Formats: sequence, C-alpha cells, structure tokens
Amino acid sequence: GAELDLRVRVAPLNADIVVVLVEDRTQARRIEETRRDFVVNVSHELKTPVGGLRLLSEAVEDAADDSEAVARFAARMKTETVRLSNLVQEIVDLSRLQGADTIATAKPVDLAECAHRAVEETRLLAEGRGISLSVRTDEGPHLVLGDESLLTTACRNLVNNAVNYSGDETRIVVAVSSEDDAVAVQVTDQGVGLSAAEIERIFERFYRVDPARSRQTGGTGLGLAIVKHVCANHGGQIRVWSEPGVGSTFEMQIPACNGERAGRETSELAD
Ligand code: ADP
Repeated sequence: GAELDLRVRVAPLNADIVVVLVEDRTQARRIEETRRDFVVNVSHELKTPVGGLRLLSEAVEDAADDSEAVARFAARMKTETVRLSNLVQEIVDLSRLQGADTIATAKPVDLAECAHRAVEETRLLAEGRGISLSVRTDEGPHLVLGDESLLTTACRNLVNNAVNYSGDETRIVVAVSSEDDAVAVQVTDQGVGLSAAEIERIFERFYRVDPARSRQTGGTGLGLAIVKHVCANHGGQIRVWSEPGVGSTFEMQIPACNGERAGRETSELAD
C-alpha cells in the first residue's frame, strides 16, 4: 500500500507561534517491515536443515551397531551441513548487500573473467548431466568498477540456476559483451522457463516456483535476490526473457569503467 506514516509533533514556541514538525516515517517503517520479514523467513529456512541434522544424529545414535547405516546417515548429514553453511553464507552476503547501496571497496574488475570463473566452477555439475556449457566474449573491454568476488558470485548464481532448471543434454550459453556504456553478461538456457507472473516474483528472497525442485538441487531461494542486489549496488540492472517450456535468458548489465573516467574514479576511491 501507498499508505503514509507521518509523525506529527506540535511545540508552542511562544504565545503567537506554534511549531509543527511533520516527520515522514513511511520509508523507515518499510525498511523495518522488510527487516522483520527477513528474520522470520530466515528462521523458517534454518529450521529445515537444522531439524534434519538433529533427526539424522539421533538416527546415528540408534544405529550405532550397524556401520552401514551409520555411513549412510553420515553422508546425509554431510549434505545437510553443506546446505546449511551455504545458506548461512548467502544470508550474510545478502544482509551485507542490503545494508549498503554502493560498493565500498570498488576496483576495476574484468567481468569476462568473473563469467569464466563462474562457468568453470559450475562445469562439473553441468557435465554430470550432459549439459554443454560455453562462454562467448566479444573484443571488450569488459571492465567495470566493483567487487570481484560479488560479481563472480552473481555470475555463478545465474549459471548455477541455468543448470539446475534445465533438462539433461541441453545447452547453456554465457555471453559477455561490451555495450555503449555498460558490460553485459547474458546466460541463456533451454530449461523449464518462467511465466510473466513467476518472473515478477523470482527476485524476492526465498521465493521458488517449485520448492521441491529447488530443495533437491540444494537451492536456498536467495540466489537471485543476491544477483539483484549485486547489480543494484554496482549501479547496474538485471533483466529476464523467458518462455515456459522453451528456456530463459538472464542478463546482468553493469556500467562500464573505461579509459580516463576509470582512472579518475579509481584514484578518487583510493583517497
Ligand atoms: P533457488 O535457490 O531456488 O534456485 P533463486 O533465487 O536462485 O533460488 O531462484 C528463485 C527461483 O527462480 C527458483 O527456485 C526457480 O523457480 C526460478 N529460476 C531461477 N533461475 C531459473 C532459470 N534459469 N530457469 C527457470 N527458473 C529459474
């Protein structure tokens, strides 16, 4: 709602003048509500892996004499632990990103290198399912001003999703290109695709079209929220084209940092 939250204070200055202070609390209240929702969602999301670990450790205790069963439960505990630590890492990343609106320690970063790294980190997952994963880059330049690790994370989240929401034996293409005043990374898959209504919601924290599928692939529901914030904090944007049953393209656009301008901005930041 567009409801306004105004706090009004009235203070008589002297016999003739009364001062009326009107403070607009709308924005502050919205931030407060967002924070509260986040905490509620986080607690809910943490309960699943923590509950799982608890049950599994009880199962290990009960099966102490059966070494095969113990090994099986231990393997599942490992999976749950990895999921839990990924989730905690993503929560930390996201709350840092939400708390700022720019990148404090920005340096020139080659976005093509981030994309290559993200692809290499996902290659094993893709190859295991016969998915072909390729990167195309134009001549560039592909320099942007920002945080290399966050930009790599954003690329990795997009490539990971492309793999997770595609069938076996499909093709994923990552294209990095230099545009007028931006560098673009496009990730195109031949996966399950998304409807317009789903696209509206996928950047929300913890939203998943198919929670069961997301859980199966070890998804946290935070990947795209992180991508969105990384783009915003770098002064860029994220766009999606998709068709259910055909596939999707996710495009990250980050302002380019070229030539003289880059030099000036970096030296300003170094001060
Ligand atoms: P998750 O951890 O569930 O993958 P994300 O925030 O990365 O969380 O994505 C949110 C949801 O958006 C996913 O659960 C999935 O339903 C949908 N989604 C993301 N990427 C794609 C894609 N490339 N193709 C189809 N659906 C996608």
